Amino acid sequence: MKKKKIPVRMCVACRENIEKKKLIRVVKISDTELTIDETGKVNGRGAYICPEIECLDKAQKINSLGRALGVKMTDKLYNELKRVILRRGL
Ligand SMILES: [Zn+2]
Repeated sequence: MKKKKIPVRMCVACRENIEKKKLIRVVKISDTELTIDETGKVNGRGAYICPEIECLDKAQKINSLGRALGVKMTDKLYNELKRVILRRGL
């Protein structure tokens, strides 16, 4: 019997490997723009973060999303991420 492999990705804040579908994907859509990929279908270079406010705060503090993707993170995107996290209700 083959074992089913669960895809995991590393959170840019806590650097733990988490099941991919539980993470929030942020995608670079241009040299200056990032977007939150809620469908998992947006093309582009992506980075992942846990749906946890602690990870978001940490990522903001050390600019890990911006550094991972080479794009400056905006407050607007942080606020959007926060909304996504809160909506998931964890
Ligand atoms: Zn994390």
